[in-house]
Amino acid sequence: MATNRTFTMLKPDAVANGYIGAILEKITAAGFRIVAMKMTQLTKADAEAFYAIHAERPFFGELVEYMTSGPIVSAVLEKDNAVEDFRTLIGATNPAEAAEGTIRKMYAESISANAVHGSDSDENAAIEAAFHFAGREHF
Ligand code: UDP
Ligand code: MG
Repeated sequence: MATNRTFTMLKPDAVANGYIGAILEKITAAGFRIVAMKMTQLTKADAEAFYAIHAERPFFGELVEYMTSGPIVSAVLEKDNAVEDFRTLIGATNPAEAAEGTIRKMYAESISANAVHGSDSDENAAIEAAFHFAGREHF
């Protein structure tokens, strides 16, 4: 399996609850290399653009409000089979359904405030990384 990249955000609940270090430890212990990382706070326009695919979903307004509610840590991660393996590491969208030991099971508050984002395809990983980072911010 080729080495490739995925994109993640430690969402406002994870940052506010003091879980940055614990979550990054789990990510690196699982074999991911951090190739870009920074702390930012999304504007409403940023969050609406990032989650544009969900614009018609009933939870969109709540999602945008939540994602702009405080700082996030965004990062690009590299590993063999990165996208799929990272989705396995974070667990199901709803932490109540996430497997034991997954990041969402351990650290998420709710289906909305679910601690972490993980890209769902190689194509979206590249789009999402480019949304958050300039080329010179990747290592
Ligand atoms: N979300 C929500 N309510 C739902 C489903 C999703 O608030 O019923 C939020 C949640 O923060 C989720 C994000 O919208 O992570 C994007 O949803 P998606 O279905 O893409 O889940 P993910 O890929 O993050 O597991
Ligand atoms: Mg998704």
